[in-house]
Amino acid sequence: MTIAIIYPPTCDTTGPYLSVPILTAWLRSHNKKVLPIDANIEAYNYLLKENTLSDMLNSIRKLYRALDEKPSLNHSDQMKYVQLYNAMAKLNWVPDNIEDAVSVMRDSTGGRFFNAEEYEKAVITIEAGLKIISALYHPLYLDFQNYRTPFSLLSPSQIKADAATDKNPFHSTYKRVADRIKENNVSLAGISIAFPGQIQPGFSLAGYLRSCFTDIHITVGGPAITQILLRHDHENQLKILGPFDTAIIYEGEEPFLDLANSLERGEKPAGIINGSIDKPMEKLPAPDFDGLPLDLYFSPEPVLPYDPSRGCYWGKCSFCHYGLSSEGTAKYRERNINDIVNHLKQLSNRWGCKNFYFSQDAFLPETAHRLGLAIKEKNLDIHWSTDMRPEASLTPEMCADLKAGGALSMALGIESASPRLLKLIRKGITTDTMITAVKSLASAGIAVEAMCFNNFPTETLKDALATIEFIRENKKFISLFIDGRFGLSHGSRVALNPSEYGISEIWQVSGDEIGTGLFYSIRGRERSIKEQTKIDNAIDSLSAYWWLHDYPWAGSLSTVHTILWYEKRGRDTFRKSAKKGHRTTFSTPMTKIKSRYDIKSMEYTALENEAEIWQTLVYEHRAVSPERYNNLAAKFPLIQPEKR
Ligand code: SF4
Repeated sequence: MTIAIIYPPTCDTTGPYLSVPILTAWLRSHNKKVLPIDANIEAYNYLLKENTLSDMLNSIRKLYRALDEKPSLNHSDQMKYVQLYNAMAKLNWVPDNIEDAVSVMRDSTGGRFFNAEEYEKAVITIEAGLKIISALYHPLYLDFQNYRTPFSLLSPSQIKADAATDKNPFHSTYKRVADRIKENNVSLAGISIAFPGQIQPGFSLAGYLRSCFTDIHITVGGPAITQILLRHDHENQLKILGPFDTAIIYEGEEPFLDLANSLERGEKPAGIINGSIDKPMEKLPAPDFDGLPLDLYFSPEPVLPYDPSRGCYWGKCSFCHYGLSSEGTAKYRERNINDIVNHLKQLSNRWGCKNFYFSQDAFLPETAHRLGLAIKEKNLDIHWSTDMRPEASLTPEMCADLKAGGALSMALGIESASPRLLKLIRKGITTDTMITAVKSLASAGIAVEAMCFNNFPTETLKDALATIEFIRENKKFISLFIDGRFGLSHGSRVALNPSEYGISEIWQVSGDEIGTGLFYSIRGRERSIKEQTKIDNAIDSLSAYWWLHDYPWAGSLSTVHTILWYEKRGRDTFRKSAKKGHRTTFSTPMTKIKSRYDIKSMEYTALENEAEIWQTLVYEHRAVSPERYNNLAAKFPLIQPEKR
């Protein structure tokens, strides 16, 4: 039997994710034949090409002409018209430049990749390429993290509707995946859905494969799909499964192997298969990247992910719901230090990989220390980056050992600098301890990334500004930071005990049958728009000290490119580059487009009306459906062409 393990879009294109290599290794160690497929990198390798984007711009021009000739435009027409116009006016230059931009990202000499002006231009070009795709497939919005349509994932029927060929930018890639499945005689295909942006594309892929093959078993697993399915009763779970024969929830090694064995015995498994939540890691093989197209990723050299541990040893933070668990985080487990060192050595030799990203919830400092000492003793020429809690055990002596043992960067969960909020969050660490950990790591030469957020329930303006001030005061020790906006997750302590956090009500909108959106109201006064604007402005002005980019580029936390920049240019690189003002060096050309409308006014009106519709649906009606949306949209006046 050949088993295909497929990683669908839309995700980071700079390196492979861990799920496929982990399952591949496990199945191969049990003598199964595995065909690993990264449909994400294959899709973007096809889409971000000159011919593909030129064809898309031609299709955009045709759609635009058809709309421009209409006697009047309704709200949905206006939304589309604006997208098409902007693509033609602002993105005409992209096809000619896209392949050069991708080649900068793959520049193995490093000469262009580490040149800030060239890098900045490549980022802008690739992001502009994504905008062309979104414009053609409007109302889809797509980037390397998000795949959103207005009614995304509302219901099984909406998932099916959004999977239609003409709505799916990945369709050509899916056809090539199907060809490989046929050529390789695959009888079991597993689709790994780790992140929310992969859910709809994963379902679309399964639907397409189902339409091509009636005789292969299609299964799904991974954190994003697990967290959806475990909130539903059995009947709903089966409805959600749609084109999949089975879904494996929680950790997948054992159940995937059992599934393959049972298919080999001629059995016909169906429905939900429960995986493990605490599989010991001692016997797990090293992730196996053989068969993945490592030369296709948008990176000058491989930075491979590895998993020294799973779960979180602390597991108490009240906002947290990560990974393969129904609440909070999974139980903490580790691999043996000797195994870790041997695996890293093998992977480094096999793939010429000098930098590893340890993909895990929170690495125990004592284990990291033992690993660092072992790496130093074996004289391994590798670096590693990971996530940690800013614990008191991160003393200057320990940090010096970590540095000598290959530690390159640490993303620290700071969350907030307000002592009251840290207590409410159940962080278990004081701001003084955090400052000591940050300084010890940075002084040892390890890049420190500070992960914070604002708008946690009950947070005051003063609390939020204290966090920003914490970053500002310690900025010479902080290589990068993020201060995002709190989002409520199912399965977090806050969602399970809302009254302890000043939350008066949690609701989902009617029509959201899958249950992906979670909304809440707080007791007492909500934060005003003026207050939130003050916080956002303070974050913006603080951001100017760093050369920041969106995920997954250099200057966003814990990404392949960021790791490579730290290694090449040192832990201060993003502050130094900000001082040089690289962001202002590339302006993009505009193309003049004929229009019968006042485009600026149309854009303003359409976006205002769109915001009003969603505000009404979510907060007044608390119900969402295409019909309700259309009814509200129909109340806005049609726009007529301007009289010349
Ligand atoms: S936020 Fe981090 S430290 Fe806190 S429970 Fe979650 S994984 Fe553990």
